[in-house]
Order: sequence, then C-alpha cells, then structure tokens
Amino acid sequence: MRYISTRGKSTAPNYEETLLEGLAADGGLFLPESIPTVTKAELKEMANGNYRDTALKILSLFALELEDVLPGILNDGYSRFRNPDIIPVKKFDGLSVAELFHGPTFAFKDLALQYLGAITEYLLKKNNRRLNILGATSGDTGSAAIHGFLGKENVTVTILHPHERVSPVQRRQMTTVTEAGVYNIALRGSFDDCQGLVKEIMGEGDLKARHAIGAVNSINWGRISAQIVYYFHTYLDLCPNADKEVSFAVPTGNFGNIFAGYLAKRMGLPIKKLILASNANDILTRFVATGDYSTDTVVPTLSPSMDILAASNFERYLFYLYGEDPQKTAEKINSFISEGRLSFSNEEMDRVKDEFVAASANDDEILETIKNFHSETGEIVDPHTACAVKAVKSLEIEEPVIVLATAHPAKFGDALTKIGLLESSMPKELAIEKEEHFTVLPAEKNAVLDFLEERVWS
Ligand SMILES: *Cc1c(COP(=O)(O)O)cnc(C)c1O
Repeated sequence: MRYISTRGKSTAPNYEETLLEGLAADGGLFLPESIPTVTKAELKEMANGNYRDTALKILSLFALELEDVLPGILNDGYSRFRNPDIIPVKKFDGLSVAELFHGPTFAFKDLALQYLGAITEYLLKKNNRRLNILGATSGDTGSAAIHGFLGKENVTVTILHPHERVSPVQRRQMTTVTEAGVYNIALRGSFDDCQGLVKEIMGEGDLKARHAIGAVNSINWGRISAQIVYYFHTYLDLCPNADKEVSFAVPTGNFGNIFAGYLAKRMGLPIKKLILASNANDILTRFVATGDYSTDTVVPTLSPSMDILAASNFERYLFYLYGEDPQKTAEKINSFISEGRLSFSNEEMDRVKDEFVAASANDDEILETIKNFHSETGEIVDPHTACAVKAVKSLEIEEPVIVLATAHPAKFGDALTKIGLLESSMPKELAIEKEEHFTVLPAEKNAVLDFLEERVWS
C-alpha cells in the first residue's frame, strides 16, 4: 500500500519506508492512501484469536508485503509483556477497563514501541542499514522507546528528558539501563526545550541523512498502526459476536491513541462514540465541545503525559475532516502555528460530533475519581485513566463502554500518596534501586550536538 503525506507533497511507496522515514519530507504525517475495511464476517472470525493473531490480521492490511515475516516480528514484539493476554479487560458495572499497561515500562506506549523495536530491527538488517534514534520525552515515551529497542542490533537510542522534571520512577526506568547504545541526556530546561532541540537537529536534512537519525515519537505511522490493533482486540473481548456498538473512553494528549480509534471506526469496527478525555490542558475537549481550538499555557498536572497543547497527531484528523484535501490541511496548520487558533464551520463541527464526545478533569476531579472508583470496584486507576473514567461518568454514557487504562497507577505515585493508596499498588519491578547513568547538559543545540558527535555518532 502506498502512503501519502497530510501536506500533499511527499509519498512513500510502502509501510516499510513510512516507518524508517518517520516524518514525511514535506513536514507532514504519513497516512495510507486508502483506509482498508474489515467486514462483519471477518470481524467475527477474528474473535477467537489471541492478541498476536489480531495484530497479524490488522497490520497485514497496512503492510501486505510484510505478511510472511510479521508473525515472527509480533512474537518478538509481544514477548516481554507480563500478562499472557497482553491486554486483560476487566468488566465492572457500567464500564469495562482494558489494561494497556502490562508491558515492560508499565504504560500503553509499550504496545507500540515494543513492536516498533522488533520491526525496525528486522527492516534495518534486511536493508543493511543503521539507525540512531533521537527522541524527547516528558516521561513515558522515553522509557518505552529505550525498552522497545533494548538489545536490538544496528540501533542506538538517545533520549532527552527535562532535568529534574520527570518522576523518579520514569527517570530510573530510563537511566538504570546499562546496555550499550542507550544514552540519556538530562537537559536543563523544559520538555518543550527537549522537543524543540530534537526537531531542530532532525530538521537539518544533511545531518539527518549523514547520521541516519530516526524518530520514535507518536508521529511515526508504525506506532499508530500498532495501536489500531487493541481497539479491535478489546472490542471482540467484550462482543465476540460483533453485534453491538461500543464506545471507547481514551485519555488523550498528543491525539495518537484516540486517532488510532478513529481509524478503527473508519475500518468498520462498530464504535459508537470516541470519548475524548483530557486533563486541565483541555484544548481537545474545547474543540469537540465548542469548536474552540486555541492554545493556552501548559499547566503541570497529576497526569503529566497529557500536559500537551500542540497535539501532533491532530493534523492527521484534520486531513480527514477537510475531506482529504492536503492543501487546505497545510494552510490550516500554518495558520494555527502563526495565530495559535483554528475555527470550524457548523458542517465540520457536525461531523466532529458524529464521532466524538469529550470531557476534561482537573487535578481535584482526578483524585476524587480515583478514590470513588476504588471504593466502588476495589480497582486503582492511574491519573490519566481517571480522566477517562470521569468523562464516562459525567457524560452519562449509556451504551457499553471500554475505558483504555494507559498506565499502571504506581507509575504516578504522587497522586496516589495524596489519597493514601500508593503502597498497596507498588509492583517490585518499579522499585528500581540500580545506579543511574545520564549526562546533564544545558538547553543548547551545540552542547547536544557535541555530545552526539563524541559519544553516539563516532
Ligand atoms: C502518552 C500517554 C497518554 C496520551 O497518549 P496520546 O497518544 O499522546 O494521546 C495518556 N496516558 C499515558 C499514561 C501516556 O503515557
């Protein structure tokens, strides 16, 4: 299948190239030229399979040329999950919770990055290429990327995190890794500084090509495609006869997780509504509720992985909202960059509301939701998942609903300590007591480049 860029000036001949390129050369994001569909009969047939079977079915639709090698890649990619079901679904009164956090770093990003590590290693060996991955993280992406590529050949991983601004658990998951080819930089600055420097370095075309620099942030199509799988798999866990519509409640920051759900719906999965859940950084909720897509200042919350106001995957959704018109998409993205806001016609908003409903939760509401849900069900949800639970309750969703639980609660101990719930939920794997390795650098491009030249690229 051919891939096109949301901005219309680049294409990629196949899945393989979209993965290795990351961002399209025209600055846009890759999408399949047409969205494949799954019939109801095919859906019912998939109901008996395990997670790898579902993944093979769905990913083959996007990467037909890799169908023969995908089983091996999927075996490798999902071999480090702690639960044999990969994603257990717990059913409660009024809602089900799909636990997406049983991978090595205890957050849903493992579902995409464990797979991406496995398939990238395969593609690099096949093409006799190397890749030097460079990424920025506010916490979860960095650890999931490091663990996704751990022990893989032909790859190095360098991750920039904001010094003293990620949680101790998140930091130790990255910095206690001792394998060769893993580099941690603690930047004296914010997450935006980290992200800005990574983009600047990637933007220098000759540098990117000369040192084979690769990206692992959620703009990579490999990640989105892997995330479509769990919408199908958890739907079939709840409705093996494929005879009901189900809604999904999704904690959202970069619009990556929920965009995969949007594609699953377009592929034919009977999804009634996508319930978009944000924290106090609520630009996406305002967009769905009122058509107001305007930036603000990011405020730190108890759910830091959603402290984002410039959702990079939103561009992919805009492309579809604008009738797959790349020129209009590019114009609108540019006007958002210069003016910090976008507005939408009534007709456009009607279509948005056909697909989405949305609600946000501030820190007090997050804590209250965790406490109430715990006393109702005995389960502890993390502060990101709590935003989704709160959305389901406040929107009074009637149809069956699956909440996507994106992190293990113990990863965000601060929130739990506030309500006395931490100790009972701390898994031993998160109490890491090993020596840490990282280099503190000023938030300056030359300092980072010097480090890369001396330590990584030499
Ligand atoms: C990354 C992350 C999110 C947000 O996912 P997006 O794809 O950016 O919308 C939500 N919860 C947790 C725990 C995360 O790590």
